[in-house]
Amino acid sequence: MMNPGGDRVPYMRSRLDLLAIMAVVLLTSVFPVDILPSGPHELHGTDGQLSGKQGHVLLVTVPDDGRSTDAVGRFLGRQIPFYKDSSGYVGLLGIDLQDTPGTHELAIEMRSPDGPRRLSYNVLVIKEPYPVQHLTLPRDKVDLDEASLVRVKAEQEQVQSVLDMVSRERLWHGSFLEPVQGTITAAFGRVRIINGQPRSPHNGEDIAAPLGADVVAMNDGVARLAVDHFFSGKGVFVDHGLGFYSMYFHLAEILVQEGEPVKRGQVIGKVGDSGRATGPHLHWGVRLNGARVNPYSLLTLFPDSTATTKR
Ligand SMILES: [Zn+2]
Repeated sequence: MMNPGGDRVPYMRSRLDLLAIMAVVLLTSVFPVDILPSGPHELHGTDGQLSGKQGHVLLVTVPDDGRSTDAVGRFLGRQIPFYKDSSGYVGLLGIDLQDTPGTHELAIEMRSPDGPRRLSYNVLVIKEPYPVQHLTLPRDKVDLDEASLVRVKAEQEQVQSVLDMVSRERLWHGSFLEPVQGTITAAFGRVRIINGQPRSPHNGEDIAAPLGADVVAMNDGVARLAVDHFFSGKGVFVDHGLGFYSMYFHLAEILVQEGEPVKRGQVIGKVGDSGRATGPHLHWGVRLNGARVNPYSLLTLFPDSTATTKR
């Protein structure tokens, strides 16, 4: 959900900085844990421990033992379905931007005709010092009237009911696209404290771009929701399968229908300032099995140059 008070563009950070702070971990074997010495992966923490910052995505690969037919992970109460590819069973572990820093268990159940096998890993969640903004605003600019409150609550429930659904097939493949060319504002994770009251952290990235610019889908999927909501304005929710959703808000125009399959790079809308927005920009968000993560984390995990060799 958007923050009441609208989106602004106060923080500028280069794309390189953003990419540099994203942790990438590739787990290549189970006991003991080996980490690939080369490639775009980096490990923080001690041997055998996965780690990543709040709001980032970890790529977890368990080698195929030749017997398992399925694998599912559990982390902080969230289910992470794994998919199979040439490297084994692969899971995208999203660390929610508000997951508690510290070490938590990632439990993976490998299912096979011989019965389940349980694997356990430690995942160190590292605090990301997201910016905090204190604002004082007139109350009538902040408080919603009764009708708006009712509307916002209904919209939140509508969104949650869609995000709670997990499509069993992986619909995405290869690398991911930035949905619009523009200025990344590093607004992900920012917390606003308005008149002393902390609001929900900003759960997407804002990209400032000209009104009417094309917005494309970051990967293949199905448009599950096409809405016009109080805070987020005209928005599209794309289901990429296995509990992975991408969101595109404040559009001027929506160019897909609910239920319609979309392809990576397909234009799904136009940049606008609908909903609570102070100027034209795209709010781009990703939900991974319930975790609010920075969409740029996925661009780092699956870089374009290696897309053909990795997948
Ligand atoms: Zn935003």
